Amino acid sequence: MSAQEETELNKLKMYVIANGMLECDLANMIAMPKLANSENHHTVSDWVKSPVYSVLLEHPEGLVLFDTGCHPDAMKGRWDRGNMLRTPYTFDESELLPNALKRLGYTPDDIRYVVMSHLHEDHAGCLEMFTKSQIFVNDDELKQTLRLYVLNGNMGGYIRNDIKAWFDTQLNWAPIDAETKEIELLDGITILNFGPGHTFGMMGLLVTLPNTGNVILASDTINTAKNFGPPILFPGLAYDTIGYYKTVQRIAQLAKEKRAKVFFGHDIDQFTELKKSTEGCYD
Ligand SMILES: [Zn+2]
Repeated sequence: MSAQEETELNKLKMYVIANGMLECDLANMIAMPKLANSENHHTVSDWVKSPVYSVLLEHPEGLVLFDTGCHPDAMKGRWDRGNMLRTPYTFDESELLPNALKRLGYTPDDIRYVVMSHLHEDHAGCLEMFTKSQIFVNDDELKQTLRLYVLNGNMGGYIRNDIKAWFDTQLNWAPIDAETKEIELLDGITILNFGPGHTFGMMGLLVTLPNTGNVILASDTINTAKNFGPPILFPGLAYDTIGYYKTVQRIAQLAKEKRAKVFFGHDIDQFTELKKSTEGCYD
C-alpha cells in the first residue's frame, strides 16, 4: 500500500445510524426459545425490543450506506396489517434515515453506493429514496422478492408497497450473483456475499477502520450474540437452515482471522453500547 493510499484509508469513518425500534416475539430472532413440555403445555412468549439501524461509511471516494431502515409510513398502512402486528415500529422523527443523514450534512442524493443486506421491511424501507445511488443486492434476493410480488401471495417480511416504489422510482440496481463471494467496493470496504440463510440471499460488509480495526456488519445474517453462539442458534425466520449455519461459520472464521468485531442485526444489548451517529463515529 502506498503512503497516499494509507492516508486515504485513515480518513474512513463509520456512523451507526439509529432508525427506531421494533418490538416482536423473541421467537422471530431465535427459533423455538420456549418450547412447551409435558409439565407445561402453555409457555409464554417473550416480547422483546429489536433495534433498527443503518450504517454510513464516509470514504474519500464516496459515501456508502449499508441498509436503509423502515419506511416512515410503515405503521400508517404502508405495511400489511400482519407486519404491523408482528413487528410494530416506533421512532423519533430524528431517527428517520433522511433526517439522520441531514444531521450529518447529507441527503440521499449524496450516497454513491447503497449495499443491501437483504430486502426485508426493516432494512429496505427507505431504499426508494436513493435514486442516484448504485444499489448492491444479492441477485437471488432481488429475483425472489420480485417473484413473491408478482405471485400475489404471502410476502412475509417483504412489503408490497416498498417494492411498488422501487419500480416507480427506477432504482439503479447492481445485483451480485451467487458465485461472487466478495467484492472490494472501495479501499477498506468489502461486500461479503453470504447467499441463502435468513432469506434468499444475504450480504454483509467488512470494514477496515484505521483505529477501530475490522468490523463485520452482519445484519440479520446473525440477529443477536446468542445466535452467533457457540453454539449457533437458528433464527425464527430462516429460508435455508444449512445456508444459515454455513454463513455463521464463515463469519466466525473471518472474525477470527481479521480480529473483527461483529455487529449483529437486532441485538438490543449490543446496540445500546454502540456509538450512534448523534454521538460521533468509529474511525
Ligand atoms: Zn430480515
